[in-house]
Amino acid sequence: MRAKEIVFISGKGGTGKTTITSSFVNWLYKNGYEFVIADADVDAADMHILLAPRILKKESFIGKSIAEIRNDACTSCDLCRQYCRFEAIDIINSEYIVNPFRCDGCGLCQLVCPVDAIDMIPQTVGEWYVSDTNSGKMVHAKLYPGAENSGNLVTMVKHQAHLITDENDIPLIVVDGPPGIGCPVTSSLSGASYAIIAAEPTLSAIHDMERAIATAKHFNVPVGIIINKATLNEKNTQSIKDYANKRDIPVIGEIPFSRCVVDSLVDLKFTTDGCPELRDIFDKMFKKILEGLK
Ligand code: SF4
Ligand code: SF4
Repeated sequence: MRAKEIVFISGKGGTGKTTITSSFVNWLYKNGYEFVIADADVDAADMHILLAPRILKKESFIGKSIAEIRNDACTSCDLCRQYCRFEAIDIINSEYIVNPFRCDGCGLCQLVCPVDAIDMIPQTVGEWYVSDTNSGKMVHAKLYPGAENSGNLVTMVKHQAHLITDENDIPLIVVDGPPGIGCPVTSSLSGASYAIIAAEPTLSAIHDMERAIATAKHFNVPVGIIINKATLNEKNTQSIKDYANKRDIPVIGEIPFSRCVVDSLVDLKFTTDGCPELRDIFDKMFKKILEGLK
């Protein structure tokens, strides 16, 4: 049976999504669950800082192709430059040169070139890894700075995680999703069984939480909310709860603001280990997440 996916998203960066995801991972491991971790926050992956993966397999990730002109074959007809709507082709010292930062890889120049002087060259834009951690197998990735195609890389990370769960009959994948609501988030939600939104009681986080919920609903993925640092602004925390109540969205739990969370992270500890005072809250919250999967 295909493994279920629990995806942690936030709508906005900095709400504690990865801290909560890694705490969940640590709790699952300590309670004897089998699962695979997928770090789908490929633009700014950071789960590896706590999970300290030992890389078993590393592969290049090939993104879009970029045009390249062979000037020995080029007759300087100028057609490619005229047709390129991205203004990616320049004439430098009488030679036609593609600016790789402007080229969108559409391939139109190759189509219009009368002498077949243009090649489309696939670009390596990142890497993905399968690793061992003390909590289980992990698939993670790195997109090179400025590279695009992060949605496709997220799909690759999840695909590799499913290959591991299929091969080893593991029932669950825990996905640390990207922030925002863009292409990598929609890729991380595609096929997910449950989306957990990490929300903070600030106005901007509430606004972005609403957008993340709308995105998950669009993909028919059931949603639950965890309110992080809930005691920082009780009025906004109440607004989140009211919003959730009106829409029948479960509030899975509230994590109070606690200095021990920061201290744990500074010491490279899971908060589930470094915050004994939050243990009951984590226990209840994480059990509720698993109940929501059934
Ligand atoms: S592939 Fe498209 S964007 Fe790139 S140079 Fe050719 S026409 Fe321009
Ligand atoms: S279309 Fe082909 S021949 Fe014409 S300028 Fe471009 S590369 Fe050269």
